[in-house]
Amino acid sequence: MDINTKGVLIVISGPSGAGKGTICKALLEKDKNLHISVSATTRSPRAGEVDGVNYHFMTKEEFKDRIEKDDFLEFAEVYGNFYGTPKSGVQELLDKGYNVILEIDIQGALKVKEKVDDGVFIFILPPSMEELKARIINRGSETEASLMTRFKSAYQEINYVSKYNYAVVNDTVEEAVRKIEGILLAETCRVDRI
Ligand code: 5GP
Repeated sequence: MDINTKGVLIVISGPSGAGKGTICKALLEKDKNLHISVSATTRSPRAGEVDGVNYHFMTKEEFKDRIEKDDFLEFAEVYGNFYGTPKSGVQELLDKGYNVILEIDIQGALKVKEKVDDGVFIFILPPSMEELKARIINRGSETEASLMTRFKSAYQEINYVSKYNYAVVNDTVEEAVRKIEGILLAETCRVDRI
């Protein structure tokens, strides 16, 4: 095992537009014992994104250097950019007893599953594929080509739901947050975790 868990490691994935980001933000605002791991990425910042808060933005060279130093718990190429979870930040938070969210793609989640036996893997589903499409378009941050890539991936990604421990349909953010809070509460009470 690469990571020792004292707090609960929660891995959240789901297709682009399923609402992972909004759900995570709402969870973090409500629960002060919950933290999110800030990933490293080679993609350019979107309007309003802040380095060190949304992501650690870096060049491909810097990212490769981090891979060579074995700094990542996992990393993956998503839509032509690299994304990775820095090991050190996650371990530090878990050691302090905090529950930690990784909001990462499916490839990354499957890698974490191999390394962390007591992680909690949650897949966020959109209410319908039509709704998912509408949400991606409404976000307005993607180019035409990027939209097509995200739609196609979304259809393939839904099939991976069975690799996760829990599936949460995001009908409304409030309801999805309530379900995840319930999952977390149950997980922290599990006898086989102590
Ligand atoms: P976005 O560019 O929209 O912020 O993120 C694109 C995808 O990369 C999302 O599915 C997001 O969950 C995923 N992602 C973000 N950070 C990481 C990470 O550290 N590792 C992996 N494997 N995926 C990530």
